[in-house]
Amino acid sequence: CLFCSSISSSLENNINHMSVKHGFFLPDADYLVDVEGMVTYLGEKVGEGHMCLWCGEKSKMFHTVQAVQKHMVDKGHCKILFEKESALEFADFYDYRSSYPDQGDTPMETGEGGEEEVEVTENTLDTEGYELVLPSGATIGHRSLWKYYKQNLPQRSSEGSSTVLPKMLAQYRALGWTGVTGEVAKTRVKDMAFVQRMKNRQRMQLGLKANKFQPHFRCQVMF
Ligand SMILES: [Zn+2]
Ligand SMILES: [Zn+2]
Repeated sequence: CLFCSSISSSLENNINHMSVKHGFFLPDADYLVDVEGMVTYLGEKVGEGHMCLWCGEKSKMFHTVQAVQKHMVDKGHCKILFEKESALEFADFYDYRSSYPDQGDTPMETGEGGEEEVEVTENTLDTEGYELVLPSGATIGHRSLWKYYKQNLPQRSSEGSSTVLPKMLAQYRALGWTGVTGEVAKTRVKDMAFVQRMKNRQRMQLGLKANKFQPHFRCQVMF
């Protein structure tokens, strides 16, 4: 458990325990794809970083896991700060594609939804003071965006997650969780989908570039 010393026999039990005992729900659970990765990542933050999931880097330094857990329980911080920039950190555990209006991978069309094509390159990211404007009008600062683009979380098999996820969602609903509702949450999902789509596209472009350069590289090696 992230918040007490209880040890669960499985990921499923752990998630159950945290929602029932601590009222902890993984944010945007509808779009979560890698539960295991997400929980492991959170575990590292608490267990190794001694970091409160709500206060984040702003929290005072805790010297022990017990201290940070006590803080989270006492202050009601058994929740993740999951808005705007702070949510980016977790974006790779999610797949927001199903929230797109067109429900697919097709590149977004300029014009129809009024969304503009935004190209974020390494160069733009290098520009100090660069800010990305999200569909909601919120901005993401250069530092957070850079961190997100550089983040390369290990790909875990989603097998474990795919069996745990449906049970988790059922459990959440049984506890009164309603999923992504309300304007704030919907706006956030839209924003997250937007940045995620950009990152995916950039990855694809980098992949293409790498392929293009390969023959030249081989030639040079041969000479
Ligand atoms: Zn617990
Ligand atoms: Zn806190």
